[in-house]
Amino acid sequence: MEAITFGVLTISDTCYQEPAKDKSGPKLVRLIGDSFQNADVIASVVPDEQQLIQRELHKWIARDDLRVILTTGGTGFAPRDVTPEATKPLLDKECPQLALVIAMASLQKTKFAALSRGVCGIAGNTLILNFPGSEKAVTECFEAVSELLPHAVHLIGDEVALVRKIHAEVQGTQSQSPSNVITRTAHVCPHKTGAGSDSDRNSPFPMLPVPEVLSIIFDTVKRTSDLEKLLWQQTSPVNIPPFRASIKDGYAMKSTGFSGSKRVVGYIAAGSAPNADPLAEDECFKINTGAPLPLEADCVVQVEDTKLLQRDKHGQESLVDILVEPQAGLDVRAVGHDLSTKDRIFPFPDASPVVVKSLLASVGKRSTVRRPKVAIVSTGSELLAPHDEPVAGKIYDSNTTMLEELLLYFGFDCIKTTVLSDSFDETKQALANLFETVDFVICSGGVSMGDKDFVKPVLEHLQFKLHCGRVNMKPGKPMTFASRDQKFFFGLPGNPVSAFVTFHLFALPAIRWAAGWDRSKCSLPVIQVKLLNELPLDGRPEYVRASVISKAGELQARIVGDQISSRLQSIVGADVLIHLPGRTSERTSAKAGQVFSASVLRYDFISKYE
Ligand code: AMP
Ligand code: MG
Repeated sequence: MEAITFGVLTISDTCYQEPAKDKSGPKLVRLIGDSFQNADVIASVVPDEQQLIQRELHKWIARDDLRVILTTGGTGFAPRDVTPEATKPLLDKECPQLALVIAMASLQKTKFAALSRGVCGIAGNTLILNFPGSEKAVTECFEAVSELLPHAVHLIGDEVALVRKIHAEVQGTQSQSPSNVITRTAHVCPHKTGAGSDSDRNSPFPMLPVPEVLSIIFDTVKRTSDLEKLLWQQTSPVNIPPFRASIKDGYAMKSTGFSGSKRVVGYIAAGSAPNADPLAEDECFKINTGAPLPLEADCVVQVEDTKLLQRDKHGQESLVDILVEPQAGLDVRAVGHDLSTKDRIFPFPDASPVVVKSLLASVGKRSTVRRPKVAIVSTGSELLAPHDEPVAGKIYDSNTTMLEELLLYFGFDCIKTTVLSDSFDETKQALANLFETVDFVICSGGVSMGDKDFVKPVLEHLQFKLHCGRVNMKPGKPMTFASRDQKFFFGLPGNPVSAFVTFHLFALPAIRWAAGWDRSKCSLPVIQVKLLNELPLDGRPEYVRASVISKAGELQARIVGDQISSRLQSIVGADVLIHLPGRTSERTSAKAGQVFSASVLRYDFISKYE
């Protein structure tokens, strides 16, 4: 058998806050290393949070090489003990006899083993065993099952030859111990947690880097429209132009005639039906740009190349001098020249709403693409509507307006806006109702650490999966992304600038992705700018608002004032978000003159030319 990987998951609020207190996880790692020579071990610690436990288990189950997961902790009777509840829904098959072996071995040592509710089972190719939390208990449990593990792994993987071999061993025809099947040295990969500061530890959510959050979003959000079928593969139902059209204001004639004077036999304006009258070589029609050529004409001589010789008694032109030699096809747009019925309407994908709507209009079609339905929610008992009278202790709500305008700016509709006070029940009811009709809720406020921040508990109550509760970025750390089936929730932090930045970096790409955009086009375009100010670097990567100045062909960026996340004024004149890296011991500041990547926030993105 190939080397396999064991996962050891310590499930404990205390150990999550103080990893040094974890004795059982490291003990299991040592036991695995001692028992199986060919095992890799990865270890991780999560708090007693059902969703976080499941998230970690999910990740491990998805790995081909990871075949056995041993959890320790969270199996008891205390309210926060939820390891069995987190494990069970992930299992394809329960293995109650394994749990029985563990229980029997433990009961021989102590009656209190009866208070452990651990489950065992198979998820995909992976065997999961819940052990209790104490170091002594995990040792006993491990010893009770370790012999069975290699055989169990082979059976799960349907590795017939090895199963036979072990059967033979068990029946005494070979001397090798089954545990020798695994023969590599164990090692432990320390698990990545948050950035490690004390404040990180107050939140049960791991601090994820921005790119990881984006890939979680793209992996989770399903597309509501198949643009390939609905747009990109569509051929044009009409020719443009649908008739031979004059490119100029001038005179339509036969190219077989010569220059010189010609009789003007009629006048063809744009919108006229194509004229089928006979046309002699010394005759012409006066014609306008965009008008259909008479059937017998094959060229147009522009008015600038002619001279009026005579008008009739009604003042109409009757004789003109054609000053150039007529050429076949001159200033005529052939049928289907711009777009023919053989062509696709879109030569290549471009989901910009301006492009899609205007191209479809040009061939007489309306878009049938279903666009994601988005609602905006603002939370906060302190919020006043912009038209309210000021009230002591309250502030005006800017986020609702800002997020609605941003949606419109990027070509999406806002189905509804709602402002909620900080109440669990009100938030729960409002979100439940909204998700009956919309695909996305973009909410601001209520996701940080305050006791009135009800958004995350409400999402859990509504059975949403919380994919992300903290992002390693400034501003916007508490940005939350959750989903339930095809319903998606963005919990942007309430501070207006944090909401502004996280909308652009996460909510907009998700909505574009759902709307069928190419993944590479969903995020804002990134350019390189030369920084004009010096700025100390923060511990977290920072997204700094800046104005762009084009100076002698070079894009320079000036930071727009105080960057505190409450100060909405920093979006005034903000053309870009400069991506500043997190501080390191080698690099503590961004210096003037250095070049950084920057996300372009707006179409008119250069504020000033110098
Ligand atoms: P929260 O994320 O709810 O903790 O709010 C963080 C800060 O943002 C607080 O100072 C709130 O008053 C402010 N805030 C929250 N929502 C809004 C909003 N819709 N408009 C303006 N400020 C807000
Ligand atoms: Mg709030």
